[in-house]
Amino acid sequence: MPRISGQPKARAKLKASPRGTRVPKVGFVSLGCPKALVDSERILTQLRAEGYEVAPTYEAADVVVVNTCGFIDSAVDESLDAIGEALERNGRVIVTGCLGARPERILERHPRVLKVTGPHAYEEVVSAVHEHLPPRTDPFLDLLPPQGVRLTPRHYAYLKIAEGCNNRCSFCIIPTMRGDLVSRPIDEVMREAERLVNAGVKELLVISQDTSAYGADLRYARGSWRGQEYATRFIDLARALGELGVWVRMHYVYPYPHVDKVIPLMAERRVLPYLDIPFQHGSASVLKRMRRPAHAVDTLARIRAWRDDCPDLTLRSTFIVGFPGETEAEFAELLKWLDEAQLDRVGCFKYSPVEGATANALPDHVAPEVQEERYARFMERAARISARRLATRVGRELRVLVDTVDGDIAVARSEADAPQIDGVVRIEGGGKLREGDWARVRITGADAYDLTGHLAPK
Ligand code: SF4
Repeated sequence: MPRISGQPKARAKLKASPRGTRVPKVGFVSLGCPKALVDSERILTQLRAEGYEVAPTYEAADVVVVNTCGFIDSAVDESLDAIGEALERNGRVIVTGCLGARPERILERHPRVLKVTGPHAYEEVVSAVHEHLPPRTDPFLDLLPPQGVRLTPRHYAYLKIAEGCNNRCSFCIIPTMRGDLVSRPIDEVMREAERLVNAGVKELLVISQDTSAYGADLRYARGSWRGQEYATRFIDLARALGELGVWVRMHYVYPYPHVDKVIPLMAERRVLPYLDIPFQHGSASVLKRMRRPAHAVDTLARIRAWRDDCPDLTLRSTFIVGFPGETEAEFAELLKWLDEAQLDRVGCFKYSPVEGATANALPDHVAPEVQEERYARFMERAARISARRLATRVGRELRVLVDTVDGDIAVARSEADAPQIDGVVRIEGGGKLREGDWARVRITGADAYDLTGHLAPK
């Protein structure tokens, strides 16, 4: 079966989860011109970000997508034959692409196809995949926001650079489910990123389980892109993505010393001055019980140094309260840490056991009412910090990217806001803007999470 996107062979070894939830696998056949290839890449990028795997054969796939061409008769014949082959060898087939604009041609010969969509209809294709092969959603394990799987608009895209994880955090079963780190070679990632940008994507969201560890499994193998050599390594990836001239947002980074090197690129706006670091706690003893990577690092000193070098740096993080054995003193340490760290964006979970995680065996699980009370105290503190930090933006002019327009209000994001998880910038009088537009906004108001403003005079 033709493959359009290389998958490291090791991925085929991924195991089923202890809960029996299999990773859903999609086969992909891409025919036709470069435009069709861009659509295929876009669909695959979305599906990979949602946790689907790309199957290398018809037999290994749970469903097959055929992206067809209908330009000339021979291309139509080739497309119809490809659909026939996919039906014969797999049986569950979704058709998209140019020939999809003439569904009667397809259905006449292949009435068993599950769905036919037209060209450039990647949202519909992804919906059809969801319908016939639901994603394996798990708010604890998924990389995408907990609001669930949503299609990304055309102006931003998730770029998944690796799968699996070499860490062994005690509350997490991802390494058991998805195996050790398997990075995608840098040239492959950059080609995908470039195709997305050529297709109109203005913001790339880099995701993996541990973005700072990118390439360690490949021994930082070198690859070539646009005639230059890059290592498969976090800092080289940031440098290369910085060449694309779009917003590049880094998610799931750990505070290892080598991460310091990306801060100058952020100060120069080669990549966005935004780091999403799942700190999870502020107490060294809790972090040790969690077996967190870089748990011995003095994170507060690191944050201070980063902000010295890049004062506009936005820090987002998530935390777990009520981890087994968490004492009131350890929780107080977390609050103190938060006060000093002054993070811009914070999410919080109450610890809950996951079947198969080693933390389940730890003594002194925290009572649910204590977890609830600590969660409320933590969130109240985080909201106050966020409100204070956002208030400093009032009066400033910010560059924003528009996500939606409703009547006379455009909802946009600044470089400090990741889609779906952070706040927004509401632009009053922004009715003429369109989704995916850039705009300059004068900020006039702020609350705990969002900003308000109006278009800045040109
Ligand atoms: S870093 Fe820890 S929490 Fe994150 S995927 Fe790896 S083991 Fe799980």
